[in-house]
Amino acid sequence: MSTQRPVVRIIGAGPTGALLAILLQRRGHAVELYEGRTDPRGTPLESGRSINLALADRGIHALRLAGVFEDLEHAMLPMRGRLIHDPEGGTSLQPYGQRPNEVIYSVSRHRLNQALLEVAARLPGVTAHFEHRFEAAEFDEGMALIRDLRHGRLITVPMEPLLAADGAGSALRRRLHSLNLIDAQETDLEHGYKELSIPADAAGRFRMARDALHIWPRGNYMLIALPNDDGSFTATLFLPKRGELSFDGLTSAADIDRFLSESFPDARDLMPNAIAEFTGNPVGFLGTVSARPWHYRGVAALIGDSAHAIVPFHGQGMNCCFEDCVEFDACMDRSSSWESVFAEFFARRKPNTDAIAAMSLDNYLEMRDRVVHPQFQLQQALSLELEIRHPRRFIPRYSMVTFHHEIPYETAWQRGIIQGELLAELTAGPVQSLADVDFERAEREIIARLPLLTARA
Ligand SMILES: Cc1cc2nc3c(=O)[nH]c(=O)nc-3n(C[C@H](O)[C@H](O)[C@H](O)COP(=O)(O)OP(=O)(O)OC[C@H]3O[C@@H](n4cnc5c(N)ncnc54)[C@H](O)[C@@H]3O)c2cc1C
Repeated sequence: MSTQRPVVRIIGAGPTGALLAILLQRRGHAVELYEGRTDPRGTPLESGRSINLALADRGIHALRLAGVFEDLEHAMLPMRGRLIHDPEGGTSLQPYGQRPNEVIYSVSRHRLNQALLEVAARLPGVTAHFEHRFEAAEFDEGMALIRDLRHGRLITVPMEPLLAADGAGSALRRRLHSLNLIDAQETDLEHGYKELSIPADAAGRFRMARDALHIWPRGNYMLIALPNDDGSFTATLFLPKRGELSFDGLTSAADIDRFLSESFPDARDLMPNAIAEFTGNPVGFLGTVSARPWHYRGVAALIGDSAHAIVPFHGQGMNCCFEDCVEFDACMDRSSSWESVFAEFFARRKPNTDAIAAMSLDNYLEMRDRVVHPQFQLQQALSLELEIRHPRRFIPRYSMVTFHHEIPYETAWQRGIIQGELLAELTAGPVQSLADVDFERAEREIIARLPLLTARA
């Protein structure tokens, strides 16, 4: 952009706000970050919030571009597949991909945020104001009101531009919506989540395989667990919020214990604090945010979860937010005013964030239910085989999303629909195993229905 590099103000110093600050500073902007919470660099972990996240290719690509990947690499734990735990305690591994680099990484949310803020704070021109909460905005006057929580006073800061990276419950988005300046919906899932923990053994060692994402799929609910680098796992229980078998319905210690022991017997044995955690930890909200557009003139714009929060079942929320930052940065190369940067960012990004929102919802059914069905497992195996045979035309949808940042989400979604139909046709009727698949027909159909993937598909 050819403006005189004005000060950019960002609300929220979570993953999106912190990464965006780094990229904007690299373009020569001064950046003021306003974060409602205390500085995470000086505070211990907040328990009860999802403490580790799966980082994949899109997120890694963005962190590399911003020059912060090296600061984090040592704290990333590779997970090479889903380790499915059946109700009898048996396990089976479903690999995520088929190349050595096709893994995802478990990373501490806290450490990731700390690392990003440490890099941002080292850069000249970036100032982070913690315990400063955005409260209101007068968009036509271009002024935002921020509460300095330490001193209890309200300060006024100019916008033009103000970027809202204030997460799924974005106050700025809600304000724009309440004034009818944008359209926005928050769709709540009927399921919520709670965090439980699987501590390390007495010698500090992992008590399950450390290189997998563990899943206990149980139809309408599931438990998952991701490794932490201290030998523990963070487990997350996804369950309906209301109804017969639900967070609301499970109140007594005896009921909670019975539910956990019957549903996840092998995990229950590894969770000595499960009852206290179940009772003490809050039920987390899961939902999808959809807004249109993401900006008001050249005054203010939404980015990250504030624009498009998604359910976490593809492990892509933060990866998608990081990709936002890269795309926003690229839009600044091509546009000459904030209004056109915001408009282009929205136009390029919205179809992709809609696509990952849909795929994330779909993946919930896959994780909690479909993974255990023999037909699904056969189709998974066939997907990997077709990728080996036709690597430039057929890439499993999960791999397109997770390991190929060069393939936009929207393309992954559209090709995924065609591939899903093809897999259903090729495994229909008497087909029981890969040996029964008609690979000549598969080749004909793939060439006819799936165009060659180009460098930026
Ligand atoms: C259970 C669960 C599991 C997840 N797992 C994964 C995963 O495995 N992989 C993945 O990629 N993603 C995952 N996600 C999604 C990921 O957490 C989010 O996409 C990501 O944190 C969004 O980053 P953000 O910076 O946009 O928003 P947030 O992380 O919500 O950060 C927003 C920041 O803004 C601050 N803020 C809010 N309001 C104000 C205000 N009024 N004034 C000032 N500051 C404010 C907040 O304190 C916060 O620091 C998961 C989400 C959940 C709920």
